[in-house]
Amino acid sequence: MPAIRLRSPVMFSSAFLLLAISYLAYFDVAVRTDADAAADRFQTLVDLGAPRRAAKHGERAIALALKAGATENDVAPLKATVADAQITRRKYQRAADLLMDALTAEWGQSLPTAKRIDYEDRLARAYLLNGDLEKAAAIYTTFLDLAGDAAAVPNSFAFGATAKLRARKLTDAADAFLRVVNHAEPRPLTGATPEHVLASAAQLADLGGFYGMREDEEYAAAGLLATAYETRKRIRGADHQDTVQLTLMLGPLYTKMGRLRDAEALYLEAFHAQERAKGANSPDLSLYIKLLAGVYEKQERFTEAQALYEHMRRLFRDAFGAQRYAVNRDKDRREYINRPVSQYFPLDAAYAPDDLVSASEFFVPTAKVPNIDEMKLRLAADQGSDGREENLPARLAQLISLCRSESDEAISLRSGYRSFQTQSFLHKRNGVRGTVTPPGVSEHQTGLAADINVNGRFMRQSDRAFQCFEENAFRFGFILSYPPGNDYLPGKDTFEPWHWRYVGIQTAQLYREAGPYNQPQEFLAALPCFQERAASGVFPTAGEPDICLDGKPAQLANAEPAKQAQPKRESAGAARILNDW
Ligand SMILES: [Zn+2]
Repeated sequence: MPAIRLRSPVMFSSAFLLLAISYLAYFDVAVRTDADAAADRFQTLVDLGAPRRAAKHGERAIALALKAGATENDVAPLKATVADAQITRRKYQRAADLLMDALTAEWGQSLPTAKRIDYEDRLARAYLLNGDLEKAAAIYTTFLDLAGDAAAVPNSFAFGATAKLRARKLTDAADAFLRVVNHAEPRPLTGATPEHVLASAAQLADLGGFYGMREDEEYAAAGLLATAYETRKRIRGADHQDTVQLTLMLGPLYTKMGRLRDAEALYLEAFHAQERAKGANSPDLSLYIKLLAGVYEKQERFTEAQALYEHMRRLFRDAFGAQRYAVNRDKDRREYINRPVSQYFPLDAAYAPDDLVSASEFFVPTAKVPNIDEMKLRLAADQGSDGREENLPARLAQLISLCRSESDEAISLRSGYRSFQTQSFLHKRNGVRGTVTPPGVSEHQTGLAADINVNGRFMRQSDRAFQCFEENAFRFGFILSYPPGNDYLPGKDTFEPWHWRYVGIQTAQLYREAGPYNQPQEFLAALPCFQERAASGVFPTAGEPDICLDGKPAQLANAEPAKQAQPKRESAGAARILNDW
């Protein structure tokens, strides 16, 4: 009789396996025939942290439910959740379809706003993961429009929670955009109709403008703008103003990123386009000459830079006369229109201009009721004029009128004069978040600054009106006070494309012709030096250090000490100049 042999471990395990298989088979049948069980299984696997395995159960649950007569609205929440699981499986198109179904169902339409924004953001990200730039841009430009001014100043107390949420989602999406547009060679968009493609390019330009204003987002911004640029160039041609407009946004980013050859190519194209549009002898070319010369200087191609600077001086001499800058050393600049104002050079609490007028009386379109202080500006009439036309508000009205007709956009004054007390109130109300300029440091206290609205919100870099202001404001005595990368206000990089400041025509012209690019405060601080240089006609050679900026300028007579000044960068030459006052 054979001895009873113990069952081998192998037999044990195969018995167990049989059991397991039959259990699974039963379970599988149950899942296949019961939408709820499939949904449960889906949820269990999601909860267990296995969304990839969960996805197929989720899809089955959706299909079974629809087969059993459920409506699209019934399965909408499940679809929204299954979309997340599909993203982990890299089924981005499927995820986008699911989210789209969910959002267009009544369920999606009736979500609380914050929740809906969250799902729209997920949908846009699914598009981006799928490489679909246009569909994502369409969603995020809606965010940009609805965020309004919260997109420009995201931490301000003045805007609602949903506007800020949209602005934040937009900011957070920069990396996702970057993954799609980060090609060595940007490719133009293609599509069914040129109109459709151009509309998408305009959206990319808006988003590029948004990211371009943010610290550390220049790569995403440059990628979006380069795609928009190539698209417009292909459809509209290099000479079209919409194409040229993008060089003003993309060129500075390339320069900042050290892509000098790319910046040079852009500026050259824009320069030639404007040369053909405005004539070879127009001082309108000055902006592009200056940008191009700046790149040459950075590349240490000083001969070429020098030739451009000399060309510009010829254009200005021919257009504005050999005696365009009379020697005009100002004795007391404390209240003068070309006085610098910044954290290094604050205004006295007691300072208030005595020639404020309602801007609307000079036909400046106003965004608010015209009789309040904020809609006032200094008259700042030219000496010896009768004061009716040769003054700040009349010139602002002319500039707005010109740019309105060039851009076809609605332009208005959003904010003019703000007293020290008003600024103080706004600053305190906004608390420690530091997005409101402290009192005494705001140019609005001078009555010389104008915040400009375009189409009912702050002017943006992607507005046609901005290009028009960049090109022409100097002719009317205005300059951009807070260009990218400035440190004039405490605590932040304050690029403000909407903030334009009057300095008078001669000074604005001198700034364009002979001043440093995008350093208005350094220029104003050293203005007497620049004035002297212009009057003598002896300009430094490109590549040599600029003594007006690095040397010590003439003392400002009777200047009050900059007692509130808290310089961030002690080493910065310009800051030193201002502090020495
Ligand atoms: Zn402002």
